[in-house]
Amino acid sequence: MIENKNQQRTPLSQLGEFGLIDHLTKNLKVKQNTTVKSIGDDAAVLNFANKQIVVTTDLLVEGVHFDLSYMPLKHLGYKAIMVNLSDVYAMNAKATQVTISIAVSSRFPLEALEDLYSGIEAAASIYNIDVIGGDTTSSNKGLLISVTAIGEVLAGDEVYRSGAQPNDLLVVSGDLGAAYMGLQVLEREKEVYKVNPNNQPDLDAYTYIIERQLKPEARKDIIALLKKLEVKPTSMIDVSDGLSSEIIHICKQGEVGCDLYEEKIPLDPQVISTCEEFNIDSTTVALNGGEDYELLFTISQADFTKIKGNPSLTVIGYIKEEKEGMHLITRANTKIPIEAQGWKNF
Ligand code: ADP
Ligand code: MG
Repeated sequence: MIENKNQQRTPLSQLGEFGLIDHLTKNLKVKQNTTVKSIGDDAAVLNFANKQIVVTTDLLVEGVHFDLSYMPLKHLGYKAIMVNLSDVYAMNAKATQVTISIAVSSRFPLEALEDLYSGIEAAASIYNIDVIGGDTTSSNKGLLISVTAIGEVLAGDEVYRSGAQPNDLLVVSGDLGAAYMGLQVLEREKEVYKVNPNNQPDLDAYTYIIERQLKPEARKDIIALLKKLEVKPTSMIDVSDGLSSEIIHICKQGEVGCDLYEEKIPLDPQVISTCEEFNIDSTTVALNGGEDYELLFTISQADFTKIKGNPSLTVIGYIKEEKEGMHLITRANTKIPIEAQGWKNF
């Protein structure tokens, strides 16, 4: 499981900063017609004509957001892009460009950064975005990656967290809790590996949840689907911190309440079986796990027939008046107030 990279280890000092930037970015191709000037000057030049621009940034820090003992660098590069594209799609926008800034310690050879950039290249190619710049510098310890994503959206098409109305339906894409349970499995295997490095773990039963942790996908397809179905959400957010925290954002910003139905929360069978094995409640995992990168949104009741029966979308609750509060309706039909947990990085 711990990556067996090729044996070559070229020190970064051998290339120098400019040589390194050239080496890492030489395969990146411009695909978007809004990119006028990409990497190579003091700044990139973009032309969006009459479109609105969305911009979002995330910073990933080794030891806080990722652990390289089970996160291959290629996956890390891919995930760093996904985390940002997910935010662009959550605005109902099309992602078009990213910039990537990295700080690396001398512990990383060139080959490690090549792996990182192969993941970035894969993401850029699959999601049809341009890498238009960045910054490269050294760090005393560990790896930091900051990605800024840029997207476009026609005026009036953007969707904020704030637009939910009483009686709207609360909808989520995909399923929840898998990335968190994947992390639990990886953490357990890391401990086993520490005790016995020769022990080859059998992870067949966990392939889906591990993939959700190591190689998440931003839901570009859901934005396209909603467009095709002619559904414009009244509010939207991506699920990065966990369902409960995102629901609270939608409700607070929209000045509304909600009822969330426990029995409706979409869970993959691997999440259910792994929760049983770890003796963790699967609803708690879906509510507080995070890193699902699904889209949570609200739609008008009038749009229900358009999404009904779609396997990628699940109605999980209803928006209520603000004074009614935010509640989870359990399988036993009791009402529990929804509270945020989210990621506790601090
Ligand atoms: P400056 O001194 O103006 O900051 P740099 O030498 O840092 O310029 O960067 C040269 C070019 O390479 C710029 O276009 C910059 O955006 C790009 N660049 C630098 N680092 C990266 C990186 N890690 N990934 C992608 N592009 C990068
Ligand atoms: Mg620079």
